[in-house]
Amino acid sequence: MEELLKKIKNYLCEQNFTVIVKAYDFAVVAHYGQKRLSGEPFVSHLLAVANILADWKMDILSLAAGLLHDSIEDGAATEKDLQKEFGETISRLVSGVTKVGQVKLRGSTDEEFVENLRKMFLAMSSDLRVVIIKLADRLHNMRTLQYLSAEKQTRISRETLEVYAPLAERLGMGEVKGELEDLAFPYLYPEDYRWLTGYSAAAYKEAEEHIIRAKQKILKNLAAENIKATVNGRKKHLYSLYKKLLRPEIDRDLSLVHDLVALRILVQTADQCYIALGVIHKTFKPVPAIGISDYIAVPKPNGYRSIHTKVFGPAGRIIEIQIRTYEMHEEAENGIAAHWYYSNKKSQGLSGKKLETVVFAPLEKLSWVKQLANWQKEITDSHEFIQELKFDALSHRIFIFTPKGDVKDLPAGATPIDFSYAVHTEMGDRTIGAKVNGKMVPFNFKLHSGDVCEIMLAKEPRKPNSDWLELVTTRLAKREIQKGLRAEN
Ligand code: MN
Repeated sequence: MEELLKKIKNYLCEQNFTVIVKAYDFAVVAHYGQKRLSGEPFVSHLLAVANILADWKMDILSLAAGLLHDSIEDGAATEKDLQKEFGETISRLVSGVTKVGQVKLRGSTDEEFVENLRKMFLAMSSDLRVVIIKLADRLHNMRTLQYLSAEKQTRISRETLEVYAPLAERLGMGEVKGELEDLAFPYLYPEDYRWLTGYSAAAYKEAEEHIIRAKQKILKNLAAENIKATVNGRKKHLYSLYKKLLRPEIDRDLSLVHDLVALRILVQTADQCYIALGVIHKTFKPVPAIGISDYIAVPKPNGYRSIHTKVFGPAGRIIEIQIRTYEMHEEAENGIAAHWYYSNKKSQGLSGKKLETVVFAPLEKLSWVKQLANWQKEITDSHEFIQELKFDALSHRIFIFTPKGDVKDLPAGATPIDFSYAVHTEMGDRTIGAKVNGKMVPFNFKLHSGDVCEIMLAKEPRKPNSDWLELVTTRLAKREIQKGLRAEN
């Protein structure tokens, strides 16, 4: 509790503390006598969740709801109690978290699974903070998974990998996504996990040494240009490395992975990012063909902003360098949660009450999240959601599910070909047919939000069809088709 209050003090004003203390006292009573499987008192879990939320600099209502999040489901409290003691918003957040918790995310059939995922989206749309609290809850449960039975470990890890980690990614919470995946990895693929930790240890170490040498040179040259920067090495998450190694073109060959450890350069302003890029390219030659990715000029759909470049570092080794501002960095790590913080910081003199109203202000950068936010106004309860799937209200983005329940957001007017390239660029070329909601459809079929799209693939690699250029709307698909056609000529 002390740790929590100390963290909060760094970004919220003291008048907010009373509700936190009150929530804690309430939780202690509601969970009286309960223990976690680890043997610790139950409130240790609640404090851990609130601490995670404070690390993400979430608002005071989320923190209180974090302390209270299990008080209905596992504790002795009712929704009425919470309403009376803590008011409308906190009790709504807690019952939202309770509801999301009751959604069984792995259905016995694909249909059930997809349906459950849709319910999750509903819960999100009612208030995104519900999902963020749920993510903090899941993160702590994953950190303490060793106390559960083997059967539960596998089930919870799979759910984490298939639902929560992608969700965190969608919300731009890259750090959370990485940690969730790494926590699930050893439970789901124990042999590969052991293999990879052994196989990669020396390579990580070697890469780190290279990075340190590059870092010193870069810092010196940045200083010569009067740029104050923080330069850090960032280690690639193990599971993310694992997925990369499984790609056919890499085929488990670690020497083909250049971003095992990347350099991350943090500066004050976007302009300085570009100056820093120039400095780096003067210091180390950029790798031709791989090129730079400017996600500041063109952010990723989840809001990610950064400049990535690959250069020949000391001893000619390829290293990846990421350049971004401190604010972009916070966003890349904590995503939507960081938006809350920055939007709150910018509007001056926030009282506790006003915090309730600053909810969706920061979302303009996250297009699909923003649409969910607008959309929630039209949908009052989950029943209506399931029945009508009013995804169509979001006119310019659509959400398409794979049969396994992965969701891709695409521009309106997207066809199965767009979808196929969105799932995997190499898959696109091999598309030979498509089913939507179980029925065969032509390639010019316009997908609708909520559609489940299954792509039929040729077994052998194929060239794309030039007619497809007329059928696609995404830039990704156009580019990949043109690439495939050029290769043919
Ligand atoms: Mn919990």
